[in-house]
Amino acid sequence: MTTIAFIGLGNMGGPMAANLVKAGHTVHGFDLTPTSCEQAKADGVAIAAKATDAVKNADVVVTMLPAGKHVVSVWSEIVPAVGKGTLMIDCSTIDVESARKSHELAAAHHLPSVDAPVSGGTGGAKGGTLTFMAGGDVKAFAAAKPILEAMGKKIVHCGDAGAGQAAKICNNMILGISMIGVSEAFVLAEKLGLSHQALFDVASTSSGQCWSLTSYCPVPGPVPTSPSNNDYKPGFAAALMLKDLRLSQEAAKAAGAVTPLGAHAESIYESFDKAGHGGTDFSGIIHQLRHLAK
Ligand code: NAD
Repeated sequence: MTTIAFIGLGNMGGPMAANLVKAGHTVHGFDLTPTSCEQAKADGVAIAAKATDAVKNADVVVTMLPAGKHVVSVWSEIVPAVGKGTLMIDCSTIDVESARKSHELAAAHHLPSVDAPVSGGTGGAKGGTLTFMAGGDVKAFAAAKPILEAMGKKIVHCGDAGAGQAAKICNNMILGISMIGVSEAFVLAEKLGLSHQALFDVASTSSGQCWSLTSYCPVPGPVPTSPSNNDYKPGFAAALMLKDLRLSQEAAKAAGAVTPLGAHAESIYESFDKAGHGGTDFSGIIHQLRHLAK
């Protein structure tokens, strides 16, 4: 079994590290927050005093951090401290530029590296059912795959350095736009006197069908497991959706792509966040749309 260092033991990283322990790996962890460290310790992770201690004897390093600046900063610190040939994997959702910069830091020390952001949220992290979208060369991906398989169900190699982040950003731009589209349809249906269930029964089996409707319905009732039935508790917080939409717009600008609906989705989530709803599930955007009609 492998010795793994896990840096960033938060809502996602904590349960992911716990699944690596369950798979029989030795896991050394580090986080700046004491409560995250305590939970990880209870899950069998050996907590180190600092990141460079955690990575000392690691065959593989996994990072799961808030944003690109954290990943570049932590990788700048730990890359010089790891042993020869250590595989570097970043699972955070970050901008493509920082992902490529992290790959460059690893390459400068002749270390294989993979960017492998996830989809599936905290439920997927706990259940070990995450989808990983990976970027990196074929050899690094092949080495990362068995490690990722201990934390997820579907592992997709998307291409070279940064391709995992590119796939993640494109997917979540679709998700943000489609959630607003589905919510608008329910708000219009309400004004037209159509019941939520009637619209669901038609659209879920018609051409309007999509994940935001059939798996994550923004009104309570039709899909019992969706956060709308739980007072819009996340789930996937609106602030994280806003973060991903911002990343998509930064990437679009840098790459010269035109994404008008992505830009509009970003501004709608921005006003929802500014109104103090960043901690609400992102399907709660339906409240913002109802509010606009007043
Ligand atoms: P989180 O805030 O719960 O966890 C991040 C952890 O990183 C925190 O515990 C924090 O203390 C730690 N950290 C920050 N800087 C550090 C440093 N320098 N050294 C060590 N630890 C440090 O966030 P999360 O929900 O676990 O999300 C992590 C990443 O996963 C983000 O990039 C997020 O966008 C992505 N993601 C989250 C979800 C979700 O549903 N929560 C879903 C998919 C992807």
